[in-house]
Amino acid sequence: MRTENLSGVDAPKDLRSWLTHLAEHGKLAIAREGIDLTDELAAVSKRLERDRAVLFPKPGGHGIPVVANLFAARDWVADAIGVKEDQLLIRFLAAAREPLPVREVASGPVQEVVHKEVDLLRQLPIPKHNERDSGPYITAGLLIARNPRTGVQNVSIHRCQISGPNRIGVLLLPRHTLAYFRMAEQVGEALEIAIVIGVHPALILASQAIAALDEDEMGIAGALLGRPVDVVKCKTNSVRVPAHAEIVIEGRILPGIRAPEGPFGEFPQYYGPRANREVIEVDAITHRERPIFHTIVGGGYEHLVLGGVPREATLLQHLRRSFPNVLDLRLTRGGVCRYHLAVQIDKTSDGEPKNIIMSAFGAHYDIKQVVVVDRDVNISDTDEIEWAVATRFQADRDLLVISGALGSKLDPTTNDGISAKMGLDATVPIAAPELDFKRIHVKGEEQVDLESVLQKDSSAAFASLVARLRPENG
Ligand code: MN
Repeated sequence: MRTENLSGVDAPKDLRSWLTHLAEHGKLAIAREGIDLTDELAAVSKRLERDRAVLFPKPGGHGIPVVANLFAARDWVADAIGVKEDQLLIRFLAAAREPLPVREVASGPVQEVVHKEVDLLRQLPIPKHNERDSGPYITAGLLIARNPRTGVQNVSIHRCQISGPNRIGVLLLPRHTLAYFRMAEQVGEALEIAIVIGVHPALILASQAIAALDEDEMGIAGALLGRPVDVVKCKTNSVRVPAHAEIVIEGRILPGIRAPEGPFGEFPQYYGPRANREVIEVDAITHRERPIFHTIVGGGYEHLVLGGVPREATLLQHLRRSFPNVLDLRLTRGGVCRYHLAVQIDKTSDGEPKNIIMSAFGAHYDIKQVVVVDRDVNISDTDEIEWAVATRFQADRDLLVISGALGSKLDPTTNDGISAKMGLDATVPIAAPELDFKRIHVKGEEQVDLESVLQKDSSAAFASLVARLRPENG
């Protein structure tokens, strides 16, 4: 189902405007009151994950409602930033190239209520998602940290385990938050952070950009929205947070302290293991008068597509530098929007698909399989990709295998991240006779107007047809 695109319309700037948009288009389900925060809320969300967003009033009796499935289809991501789906990656790249820095304001709705006494599970409706998760997790929080040396902010999403009334266990992969934390920890200091929950989808999408260190992702969000994101200073530290967010948790990542975190259901559809990880101490919670809490089911569609789209944009940019005939690409859902890449090209030379495959492996260590197809193959449809492999690929000629490369540590078949790579050239040979690979097609199929061709009441039409066929007298 395509969504109405918003181009030309003033794009919404907070979570509520996006939910209103979804509700107006029949894409927001409302659950009955009192759905359990343990398992049940995630179960209902999963059942609806490719269909509708869902809002849970009074979850587990809690006064704050929870919403899930902000993205139930890839074209919703495009809709959220006001473009058609075929412009999504281009728009994202343009925003990453020309960010709009944040604008600091004196006050914002996110600080209407301030709690300096913190009890996370009492004050916030935090769900437990996958069956074997260690407990409740904040999964859709933008973790904002400041570079202790430059003051530049970083925005990223980390899984946040509730470890105590004011304690959060957090997984920091080797990217920017960890780099900032190491700077602070080296001099024995905590890293000031904020966890922001309930924002416009553009902010969530921007948080997943593959930006460089000291590039504020909030500037990318501003560019996606076409105006700077308004930010306010936290009440207990110097982090700046979106003024129109629903909820902010203010705190510090503690130096020299690690505690058990996990297991937690992750994007490869397996559990990330329990281990000693960094710890956040919470100093305050601020929120709107009547806030809405956003959660993402670990490994669910929203999780996959959110990480996938910004990666696709980066990969497209990388490949086009050397291969301007790359038309489009997809990280497929079956490949958990991380591992399997389909690349559509306007083929100009035999052999080139293999160069493109090697370049894709070099672009991101997560890429494990690449299929290159011609421009007549719809890469949004995995049946089409399989068809191309079925009819345009021979393993002894078109298969590329590389062993012992770096892969994803979360892929359980790797040897601590050491992984094989597989590339498939499923393109038509340049010299092939035209009719050999000509897709069959029925002339006029696309132009058929079913309304004008078919009778309205098929049941009555069939009865009358049968009556006319029946012999009158035996
Ligand atoms: Mn960053």
